[in-house]
Amino acid sequence: MSKSFRPVDYQKPLPASEIIIKEPPSADSVAFDVVFVGAGPASLGGAIQLAKLIREENEKSGGKLGEINIGVLEKSSEIGGHILSGAVIKPGPFQELFPELKIDELPFSAPVREEKVYFLTEKKAFKIPTPPPMNNHGNYIASLCEVTRWLAKKAEELGVQVFTGFPVKGLLVQDNTVIGVRTTESGLDHDGNQMPSYQPPADVTAKVVVLGEGTRGMLSQAYLEWQGIKSPNPQIFALGVKELWQTKTPLGYVVHSMGWPLKSDEFGGSFMYPLEKNVVAIGLVVGTDYHDANLDPHYLFQKMKTHPLFREVLEGGEMLEWGAKTIPEGGYYSIPERLSGDGLVIIGDSAGFVDVPSLKGVHYSLSSGMDAARTIFAALKKNRFDEETLSEYDKAIRSSFITQDLWKTRNMRLAFKNGLYAGGIKAGLMTLTGGKFPGGMIRMEKDNQAERISSEDSAFVPDGKLTFSKVEGVYKSGNATRDSIPSHLLAVEDVSPEVAKFYANLCPAGVYEVIDGKLRINAPNCIDCKATDILAARWTPREAGSGPRYKKM
Ligand SMILES: Cc1cc2nc3c(=O)[nH]c(=O)nc-3n(C[C@H](O)[C@H](O)[C@H](O)COP(=O)(O)OP(=O)(O)OC[C@H]3O[C@@H](n4cnc5c(N)ncnc54)[C@H](O)[C@@H]3O)c2cc1C
Ligand code: SF4
Repeated sequence: MSKSFRPVDYQKPLPASEIIIKEPPSADSVAFDVVFVGAGPASLGGAIQLAKLIREENEKSGGKLGEINIGVLEKSSEIGGHILSGAVIKPGPFQELFPELKIDELPFSAPVREEKVYFLTEKKAFKIPTPPPMNNHGNYIASLCEVTRWLAKKAEELGVQVFTGFPVKGLLVQDNTVIGVRTTESGLDHDGNQMPSYQPPADVTAKVVVLGEGTRGMLSQAYLEWQGIKSPNPQIFALGVKELWQTKTPLGYVVHSMGWPLKSDEFGGSFMYPLEKNVVAIGLVVGTDYHDANLDPHYLFQKMKTHPLFREVLEGGEMLEWGAKTIPEGGYYSIPERLSGDGLVIIGDSAGFVDVPSLKGVHYSLSSGMDAARTIFAALKKNRFDEETLSEYDKAIRSSFITQDLWKTRNMRLAFKNGLYAGGIKAGLMTLTGGKFPGGMIRMEKDNQAERISSEDSAFVPDGKLTFSKVEGVYKSGNATRDSIPSHLLAVEDVSPEVAKFYANLCPAGVYEVIDGKLRINAPNCIDCKATDILAARWTPREAGSGPRYKKM
């Protein structure tokens, strides 16, 4: 018998009062001028741009601006360790940031030479004309882990201090102003007691805090909630599960597909990119507003690889890496009405800058970081960091190509809320009319409000060669979390077996299990994809060194 429920009815609220810390910084706090949270393309692009502007200004004015301390705090123990993307990247903002470099000196592996788009049924693949947003001519294939490692080196060469193993757990505020951040403590046992290795949280103060914490940013959510900042539509998400494969023969083109194994009322699609000569990146992206509570994104992806289109490429090869991450999908109407405030700006995925029809966000991230840098540079010259001064960033974003692009595709993802076929036709008309059709805004609900229907499911049995279990996946993510740390997931644990099963299906890393109808949580398995924060237990940052250790995702 089928049962229905809404995830929101089983979720705890964001622990906003613990994230917005209304306490003075500790006596031994470290002072920076500008602190970027997260070392993704958004923060690193911003830090590099800011350091370059300061250097040029000091050279011109004989050092009038003086030494400006820029810090980047990253939760992963290595740069790129928590970064996962496709990735086919639009190079424009990289060329703007590094005008002195030729395109082949940028950290991309190869230009896109050819692309193929398919509509899949269970056994067949129908090649369809490439929809304009998926046209990748002029774009480059890259590992975003490697891109961020390269950017971090460039930032350090310019004097930026990049700290790894610094997960930020809260914003230090005074009245309405953000004055710094607090990192997580480490060395607690499972029950929260201090072990000999205990390290207390560290406070870092700054004139401006820049939130570049990526998808479903916890600090950004808390800040927006605290300030009462809204967006026309709520942010909605997708979950991408990805693997890297060593293949026997090279793949000469990029592939996107829609259709099977997703049902017609589920949004998403696959990507398969040739990263290196015999290394292929493959993944499946699934909108987190799906209704079937038995949908398991990890196993759906495993099933997808058995399709002849993918099997032919992967069979006989070796899976090198596995991982997962969410993507903010709401587009134009989900961008908060204000992205700056007293002492703070929000950039990249945390602001929602992703174009879903083309599956691209890296170039927007870099560019929004650079816009923030220009605003902060002007603020440093005036020595003013209030909301009015930093709102220049909002103005820059509103007149940027980011807003222009997202305006054109403003209803495209939203059109799919009533299914693939109706959505496909509407999306075609939107492309033809530059987004004018159908006019107005298609209203969305939060993903956690979408009804889920559970029924009997059939288990997928992986073969360990082409298809893998969640345990095998987590192993291949390099997850290095200490087994005995306190749980970082704020869960309602007393849930019905149907809800528990929904969590178990949702989490690609097998964090949730149903044992005798009860929910069991294996928190150390978590690879920070953030899907749980959207639909199940709230996610909070853990001690340094936890989580995956991606190498080339
Ligand atoms: C499966 C998938 C495929 C994609 N494919 C493409 C593609 O082909 N092309 C494209 O352009 N875009 C693609 N995207 C989107 C693109 O990856 C993102 O838009 C981009 O990475 C966003 O950059 P960012 O710097 O905002 O965030 P991120 O790249 O997510 O970086 C955020 C960083 O902040 C760190 N962090 C988070 N919280 C904290 C904290 N509290 N304290 C300290 N550090 C923290 C994280 O560990 C991470 O290193 C894809 C995304 C996914 C998931
Ligand atoms: S528990 Fe961790 S790995 Fe599992 S869905 Fe949540 S964030 Fe992703």
